[in-house]
Amino acid sequence: MNTMNQSGWKPGTPVAATGDADYPTVTGNKALMLEERLIFELGTPDTCGVDLPEPDTDAPNRLGKFARKQPMDLPGLSEPETVRHYTRLSRQNYAIDLGLFPLGSCTMKHNPRLNEKVARMPGFADVHPLQPVDTIKGALGVIDELSHWLIELTGMSAVAMSPKAGAHGELCGILCIRAALEARGDARKVVLVPESAHGTNPATAAFAGYEVENIPAGKDGRVDLAALKARLGPDVAGVMITNPNTCGLFERDMKAISDAVHDAGGLVYCDGANFNAIMGRVRPGDLGVDAMHINLHKTFSTPHGGGGPGSGPVVLSEALAPFAPLPFVTKDAGTGEIHLVEEENVGDEFPGSFGRMTAFHGQMGMFTRALTYILSHGADGLRQASGDAVLNANYLLRSLDDVLDAPFGDAGHCMHEALFSDHGFAEGTSTLDLAKGLIDEGFHPMTMYFPLVVHGAMLVEPTETESKAVLDQFATAMRSLAERAKAGDETLQTAPHHAPRARLDEAQAARKPVLAWQRPEGE
Ligand SMILES: *Cc1c(COP(=O)(O)O)cnc(C)c1O
Repeated sequence: MNTMNQSGWKPGTPVAATGDADYPTVTGNKALMLEERLIFELGTPDTCGVDLPEPDTDAPNRLGKFARKQPMDLPGLSEPETVRHYTRLSRQNYAIDLGLFPLGSCTMKHNPRLNEKVARMPGFADVHPLQPVDTIKGALGVIDELSHWLIELTGMSAVAMSPKAGAHGELCGILCIRAALEARGDARKVVLVPESAHGTNPATAAFAGYEVENIPAGKDGRVDLAALKARLGPDVAGVMITNPNTCGLFERDMKAISDAVHDAGGLVYCDGANFNAIMGRVRPGDLGVDAMHINLHKTFSTPHGGGGPGSGPVVLSEALAPFAPLPFVTKDAGTGEIHLVEEENVGDEFPGSFGRMTAFHGQMGMFTRALTYILSHGADGLRQASGDAVLNANYLLRSLDDVLDAPFGDAGHCMHEALFSDHGFAEGTSTLDLAKGLIDEGFHPMTMYFPLVVHGAMLVEPTETESKAVLDQFATAMRSLAERAKAGDETLQTAPHHAPRARLDEAQAARKPVLAWQRPEGE
């Protein structure tokens, strides 16, 4: 890692103007947009934010060879300096609470504040996974009630609550499939993944030790059913299909696919991260799905971004339910009594569990938020949410399909996201340029260059929580950017111009990030 202080900047000295400011300032600040240095440039090793006792001068002798020979180079800052540093950085971030966050597939929707209020109630927020079970019956009750809703909404038999993200849920589902196949003495080697599936699907199958084989997409952006059927056989453990898929389309042949896979002795994994488009309208259990993860942090509005926490419960069919991971919560149908099933008491009733995915029960805070979201919406509200999500995506698709190429636009409605390509952009202008232009317009860019089946893909998911006014403003920005991209406007090729930093070298920024400062030679 390159750790030199590249700028040579010293506190209290002017900063070279950044970006393309027409009116440079000596501080580098632009009114409320405050320039911020690395914390190592701001602090000095001799400053300390708290009063520490005088150092014990004998300590180095006692520590012998373990005594520190060099100063630690910690960036010493006072408390207000520290607070300001992180607050300034936070203001350079983009968030769903600032504006539209149209990342396709990621379902960046508003997180209702009621969720937060309930999750912060001390009885939920302070619960500890090592508390005796009879002191956490209420928390287990929340898990049980949420499980009930997830099972009802998906038409499945059981749900494993502990996976902590979508991809983690995929692994859980694939491990259940493997356990079921091994239990019948039929270990198979291959998992089929269509081109229209999310990238985590083949990654999961490979991680679980399967050979991954690709199934092509048809011209309509959906799984090529004939190609899939042709590949089925006694070596195929199952398929992993994203539905709605990454082209924003519903896999209409899902039932036929499931039937064919089952006839060939395999099992069906469905990536349900896009459940937001079909919640309350389609039950994956009715389509023959055996395992499907649900991203509580997408469909059920629990907050995400910045790396977590997520929550990816996996609903399971009757065939896979006996192999669900421990621990799980059960409710006695007669007495209504809640029980926790773990290794000690798994008994003969649940012999097949493949083991544990996590140390404890999963993301309790996400469970509380998701159940709050579900109960405050009710069955009719959830159904309306998916309808509005699809309506908003179609509104954007049809607002823009005269200026941007919509590769599957003629095939009818899209689901939760609208897909565009770079077809028609002038030579030298790319999808990346348009995305950088969106930053100047004050929007987070959409998902780019994914799915791979579309050239220069732009995948836009507005979600149901955006108003028509916001969608219209976004469409106005996109329309202007599309026109500039088609005209080969050179200023678009160097965007962003108004962001705190001009365009970075994407490869260097990812591979050789300058994250730390090192004391310059001789200081
Ligand atoms: C987000 C997403 C995933 C992965 O979920 P994580 O919670 O990020 O692990 C998988 N598939 C699809 C279609 C997704 O949108």
